[in-house]
Parts: sequence; structure tokens; C-alpha cells
Amino acid sequence: MGKQSDALFQRAQELIPGGVNSPVRAFRGVGGTPPFIEQAQGSRIFDADNLQYIDCVGSWGPMILGHGHRYVVEAVKKASTRGFSFGAPTAGEIELAEMVVQAIPSIEMLRLVNSGTEATMSALRLARAATGRNKIMKFDGGYHGHVDSLLVKAGSGGATFNVPDSAGVPAEVTKLTISVPYNDLEAVRKAVDGDLAAIIVEPVAGNMGCVPPAEGFLQGLREICDSNKSLLIFDEVMTGFRVAYSGAQSLYGVKPDITTLGKVIGGGMPIGAYGASAELMKMVSPLGPVYQAGTLSGNPIAVAAGKSTLSVLKNSSIYADLEERSAEFAAGVTAAAAKHGVPVTLNRVGSMWTLFFNEGPVTDFESANKSNREKFARFFHLMLADGVYLPPSQLEAAFFSAAHAKKDILQLIERSDRVLKKIAWEFEK
Ligand SMILES: *Cc1c(COP(=O)(O)O)cnc(C)c1O
Repeated sequence: MGKQSDALFQRAQELIPGGVNSPVRAFRGVGGTPPFIEQAQGSRIFDADNLQYIDCVGSWGPMILGHGHRYVVEAVKKASTRGFSFGAPTAGEIELAEMVVQAIPSIEMLRLVNSGTEATMSALRLARAATGRNKIMKFDGGYHGHVDSLLVKAGSGGATFNVPDSAGVPAEVTKLTISVPYNDLEAVRKAVDGDLAAIIVEPVAGNMGCVPPAEGFLQGLREICDSNKSLLIFDEVMTGFRVAYSGAQSLYGVKPDITTLGKVIGGGMPIGAYGASAELMKMVSPLGPVYQAGTLSGNPIAVAAGKSTLSVLKNSSIYADLEERSAEFAAGVTAAAAKHGVPVTLNRVGSMWTLFFNEGPVTDFESANKSNREKFARFFHLMLADGVYLPPSQLEAAFFSAAHAKKDILQLIERSDRVLKKIAWEFEK
């Protein structure tokens, strides 16, 4: 990287494990060292050496409006002058809750927390309490935050660094977690039993790269949960307000029992939420026996960022525009790959996408892992050198924002074309 970024990375590594506060940021999935980001505006981020990139990470999902959206910045400024945190209820929390309940019909009540991890952890606790059962089912390559019991065959960084099962988690804990292949209803049916409290699923997988649900997969999970009296948890931390305003559950027409949210609902500030029917949510403390709390939960500044983000998204043409531009990008890149004879699979749902370097189809963790990682790493670094910031791992989704204008998309296609041509030269001879 540039001089400044390299110097900062040296310093960071002495104080912070791997120099980063979340593992994938360290670039170990692609080699090399990460740029240190100084600021961002719209579709662009700028590093410590003042190099500019088209940002296709969007803070891993939250920045759907792009960076520094005027309305959101104003809301955050205003909130910050009123006080950072009170540890007492505020009107803003009701307003954000109302927006979520209006957007997502399966949610009648919700609780705000501080991260996606907290949301899924709490959702599991609620599901276990409601069913009086112990086991949890998840999917190989599915990532739901770093909750002990969910770090089993986990996606995201766990998969990137070959530690899908984290050390430090007792076998006694993970023996209650069953993991089966994504998009495989047969495997789900075989693994279900009378002690299964819940199935937790990313309704569009995003942490093994973007992998859409197969036709009927989510409906099938709904039916299996109903007949087994287990709860269905949609982890929409990534997909909520991303693939559609009302989330993946509206896109695919399947109603989960519990939904977890995060990322977009905080507009870039730390937040998470879990919600369900009033009946289920009334089991949560102080109304019921499921304990869950948080010193900074419902933080007024995070809530202001979330509320203003959702109000810009609501009733806008943003999702239609994102679909159109993302589709144009996907068509352009797949055409370029075909032209240069580089086998790729581009998976995409709305503005969430991954370019895999194999023929595909990529439908689960196993097929995602067949992507040629050397080609991905080369693609990543050539794009970076050409001013494009992609997720530094094959097993992560990339994102476009409302600030990615037509000209950004055209630049991205043009640069991809150039880079894929080079890759064809280097690999396909
Ligand atoms: C990002 C993510 C999480 C974890 O959220 P954090 O805020 O990083 O704790 C959980 N589930 C899914 C599907 C995610 O994409």
C-alpha cells in the first residue's frame, strides 16, 4: 500500500491483534496490507495516502445511501448536540421501532441492541425459552456474528481463515448446534428432531459470498419448522433494508418467527435489533423471564442515524435504481469474463453480489469454496491498484449504494474488463 498506510499498519500490529478490530480487514484472505481509511464521501473512500477508491464494501453493508449522506449527517449532528447517551428511554427509539414494525409485518415488537452478534445471540435465547428446547440448526458457511454456539462451520472470517469452528468454545456448547449444507432441505429434514428450538438462516446468504436461496428453500424451512414446532429465525442483519425495504422475507414471501437486524438500520453506527410477534417478545425482560440488556442499547446517535437512513430509503426509488445499476454491472462483468475466457459465476440479489472464479453454479458453501482463490486474490489486487475497493475475501458479499452513479458502474465494468483480460493472460494460457 501507500507509505502512510504501511506505517500505520506496522504500528497497529503492535497494539491490536493483526492490526485490525475485525479479522477480515487485515487482508489475509488476499495477501498484502490494507489501506487505512481517512474519509469517505458518496461512493468513494480515501486512504491515508490520499488514494481514492470506488467503495464496494460499504462498511460490509450498512452504507446503502453511500458515505456522508447529507440528511443522515445532519440528523447525527443534531442528536450529538443533545447528548451522547442517557441510559434512559428516548422518543427516537419508539420512532425507529415504528419504522421497523411498519416495514416488516412479521415483527410486532422489537428490542434494540448494539450489534448483529447481540441480536442473534438474544434471538437464540428467546427461541430456546419459547420452545423449552436446546438445539439450534444453522447452515455451513452461514455467519451470524461471533456468538459461541454459532461459530460452527461459520462463514465470513472464520471461513476465510480456515477456522470455521473457533477455539475457546466448549464442545458442550457446540454439540447443541447442528450445521447442514445451505439450500439442502433433505439434509435439514434428516437433522431435525424433537429438541430443535430453532433454525437460523441468512435468507440470502452473504457470508460465504452472496448465495441466493434456491426456489422453495425458505418455504421448505418454514414448513419443516411448523411441523416440528421449531421456530424459524431469519438473520436479516445483512439483508434487512438491503435487498428490499422490507427485507428478504418480503422478497421471498416467507414469514419467520424471529428476525434479527443490524447494519443498515444503524446507517453506519453500531446497532442491532431482534423482533418477533408481541407474544414472543413479551417473554423478554422486564415483561418475561428471558434476560437481555445493554448499557448503550438504543443509543440516541445510532438511532438518529438509523431513523434518517430508513426515512430516506422509504418510498424512494432507491431499490429500483440499485437493482438496475447492479444488473448492469453484473451483465457487464460476466460479458467481459466470457470475452476473455475466464470462468466466473456472478451471484447477486439486488445490490448485494459476489464474483466467484469457477463455473458454478454456486449454491452452497462447498461450491463457493471451489472458487479459485488465487484468481480472486489477483483480481482483488489488480482492482485495488486500479482504484476499486472490494471485500478482501472471496467469501464475502460486495455492495453498491445509492451513491454509486451510472458513471461509477461504467468505470467498474471498464476496470473489471481490463483486469479480467490480464487474469486471462496470466492464468488461462
Ligand atoms: C454482519 C452479520 C452479523 C454480525 O453483525 P455484527 O454487527 O458484526 O455483530 C450477523 N449476521 C449476519 C447475517 C451478518 O451479515
